[in-house]
Amino acid sequence: MLHDSWPFNKTLIGLLFFLIQSFLFFTPPSAFSKREHLVYFPNTAYELNVYRIYGKRPGKTLMLIGGIQGNEPGGFLSADLYADMSLEKGNLIVVPRANFYSILLNKRGPHGDMNRKFTHEDATDSMEDKIVSILKKLIGQSDYLLNLHDGSGYYYHEFIDKWRNPRRFGQSIIADCKAYIVPETKKPINLGEIARKVIAVVNPHIQNELYKFHFNNTRTADSDSSHKEQRKSATFYALTKHHIPAFGIETSKFLPSINLKVRYHNLVINAFMNLFDIVPEHPGIALEPPVLKYLVLSVNGQAATVVKDEHTIYLRAGDSIHVSHIEANYERGLSLDILGYGDLNDFRKDLVIFRDTSLIARKDNQKFAEIPIIISKSSGIEGSERVRPKRVQSLIIKACGHRILLSDGETLDLVKGEHMKIVGIIPSFLSR
Ligand SMILES: [Zn+2]
Repeated sequence: MLHDSWPFNKTLIGLLFFLIQSFLFFTPPSAFSKREHLVYFPNTAYELNVYRIYGKRPGKTLMLIGGIQGNEPGGFLSADLYADMSLEKGNLIVVPRANFYSILLNKRGPHGDMNRKFTHEDATDSMEDKIVSILKKLIGQSDYLLNLHDGSGYYYHEFIDKWRNPRRFGQSIIADCKAYIVPETKKPINLGEIARKVIAVVNPHIQNELYKFHFNNTRTADSDSSHKEQRKSATFYALTKHHIPAFGIETSKFLPSINLKVRYHNLVINAFMNLFDIVPEHPGIALEPPVLKYLVLSVNGQAATVVKDEHTIYLRAGDSIHVSHIEANYERGLSLDILGYGDLNDFRKDLVIFRDTSLIARKDNQKFAEIPIIISKSSGIEGSERVRPKRVQSLIIKACGHRILLSDGETLDLVKGEHMKIVGIIPSFLSR
């Protein structure tokens, strides 16, 4: 019987080894910090960019939300700097501009305050609701949340004057309570203690007494809270739905410069990251493969054209070309070489071309784009799809007080001295 069961056991052991190997293969200790960039609603006024940064070593995930209210640039310009960060340990989810529409209009909430839409139920009526649903999912994947704001005046625990009192928000670290008890585990999340530790690190870097940070407990859930509206905020949602420490960070709108607002946000975020053991890499290593976005090229000193990787450049023998700009995902180490002409770097040079060649873009010594140059009877740029306007089919002309559609081959009769204007061109697209 023992003999009979051997093949089965062997299969089982084999399977086990396979599983162990697969596990090791799919979760190797990553040598480099990794990043992901997701764009929702691209090229709209609501474009939402989400950056996920993974550290070399595993750790906690901190989410940063900036620009949930469009007229608070300190928050979103600070978040921007973290979107490009590399990490030694732990992870970041950065949404620099949660409400791009409100940023474009420089208003708090043109369609209502987005930070009052984080109820436990999902709504999808508006673009703001759709964005909030995405943010809620990301909060669910995080261990901590910081929502970055610029508030009016200066928060003080006691009433001092109109702009320094408990109703103001500037220069404060806000939590919905001092300690939140997680219902299932009965364990406390000591928000007040975390905030005080951060403040103890940050304030020694701030000279002006007025600009020092204070802990602002909104006591959101209390029946006598003066901030009941915060029950629909991102931080209250994060705390009560996902039971993660969540804070609002407020610099003051009254600070003398935008640089100072960003600097104070950075100081606070850095202190939180340090406390949560999320470790940045200095300087950050992000060696992505070089990609050409486009070149700006002019022929015979004429108006510049955009040339992309998939294009072909047609020249007449003796035409002079000049590349004035290389747009790539790198700024340094770029060069441009026209094979057989000039020297190793032909960027921003005028070169006269007589025979077929290629235009090579390099990052350091790595070729990342090659665009053919072909000598023909006329010059021009063509896409790989080989579709371009070949000739004008009709012109729209404004004359004699009318708009006239004039097709190829037709004649327009005008009285001598009469004004005419070409207001539109209708090309005929011919594919080769
Ligand atoms: Zn705000």
